Amino acid sequence: MALRGLVFFAILLACTSVGLGLGGGWGAAGGAWVGALAWLAADLAMAARALRWLRRPARPDELLDPPELPGLWGAVIDRVRRLLRARDQQVAEAGQRMQSFLAAIQASPNGVTLLDEANRITWCNQTAAGHFGFDAQRDQLQLVGNLVRDPDFAAYLAAGDFSHEVVINGRAATSSRLARVSAQLHPYGDGQKLLLSRDVTALEQADTMRRDFVANVSHEIRTPLTVLNGFVETLQTLPLEEDERTRYLALMAQQAQRMQALVNDLLTLSRLEGSPLPGGGEWVPLAALMAQCEEEVRGLAAVLGKDLDLRCMPAPGFEVSGIGSEILSAITNLVANAVRYTPSGGTIDVSWRDRGDGRLEFSVQDTGPGIASEHLPRLTERFYRVDRSRSRETGGTGLGLAIVKHVVQRHGGELQVESRLGQGSTFSFWLPAGRFRPVPAAPVVPPAAAGAETPPQ
Ligand code: ADP
Repeated sequence: MALRGLVFFAILLACTSVGLGLGGGWGAAGGAWVGALAWLAADLAMAARALRWLRRPARPDELLDPPELPGLWGAVIDRVRRLLRARDQQVAEAGQRMQSFLAAIQASPNGVTLLDEANRITWCNQTAAGHFGFDAQRDQLQLVGNLVRDPDFAAYLAAGDFSHEVVINGRAATSSRLARVSAQLHPYGDGQKLLLSRDVTALEQADTMRRDFVANVSHEIRTPLTVLNGFVETLQTLPLEEDERTRYLALMAQQAQRMQALVNDLLTLSRLEGSPLPGGGEWVPLAALMAQCEEEVRGLAAVLGKDLDLRCMPAPGFEVSGIGSEILSAITNLVANAVRYTPSGGTIDVSWRDRGDGRLEFSVQDTGPGIASEHLPRLTERFYRVDRSRSRETGGTGLGLAIVKHVVQRHGGELQVESRLGQGSTFSFWLPAGRFRPVPAAPVVPPAAAGAETPPQ
């Protein structure tokens, strides 16, 4: 400012001196006026330029092109330019923070919807859009109650008690497909609300499965228990003949065995679910597995009094890797089913074969009653039976195929069923490459050792 004052007085002095030289006292006064007016005009011109620059519409390159002005106006322009640049930088940083914040909410596995004080949608992420069927752009400022028409949600919104969540049908739900969404509102700010949603379909399904499973197990155990109780009461209250007592005791033993088989299968299933996946270290020869399986199923056929043509093809010279007891239980379950469901006089073919596409296949083909196609997709569900009474008569628990499926999947393979009503069934599974190999050749005895064993002449 001091410099500016000095320059003004210097101009005034110069103009006054020139005026004095040219026209005496009046000339000096005129010179002073001219000097002052010239200063004012120059100052106004600079102010107008500065104002023009400030008034120009803001463009990103604007700040790079400020007018070059001397003195005070130059300093003002410089100061304004710095302030504008700092503001622009702050705006850009805030924008970036906002973008990364929104990107993080977009990446959230949960649905996030922002509602204003009138319950209109101001923003939502893609997950929420999927849950409720919103269009993130088109549905902005739409009333959420108009878009989420579930009566439970409408009641929840109207009640205004947001301390709990509400579970409704998601947009993807159809008559054949379950899609359940849990939604909860969280008020914030000045009447705005945060609507958080998550997909709870799997949770609800697991819950239903758990309830069904408990109900099934209770039912399966209650039936033999009721029968056992009946016999116990009869034995306690009625004086029975010896042969009748023996018959009742045999029936009681049968029910106890049924319960034991059920508990064993349940334990097997829970072990399969809880134990780590089988490694590739243990190798078991197929021939040994098949010998054990054949012995068990021939025993079962004898117990059931079945006259069947059970043809077990000699197992190829392979060994399989995994958990031997699990693979044995899978093949025994399949052959035992064929024995149980095929009437006397029927044929059962059991074979292993190298499919040539890197897979080893086990298959059991029977000439039994076959299974109607509508049952096939559900056969491996726990406790699913096509014919309840036949399964029970032959000691079935309804868990055999569930166990087989688990074992096969744990070993990287797949269970397949082909069957036609009245035309028999073929149950097969394959194991992937890496799970089988040819049995290594027996070590050759060295000639020296062989010579040592020859008796002295
Ligand atoms: P279960 O103990 O009842 O045999 P599984 O899980 O082993 O239970 O089998 C499920 C159902 O599949 C059986 O109840 C039966 O109806 C049907 N099934 C299984 N194997 C055969 C087969 N070889 N022939 C006909 N039906 C079969």
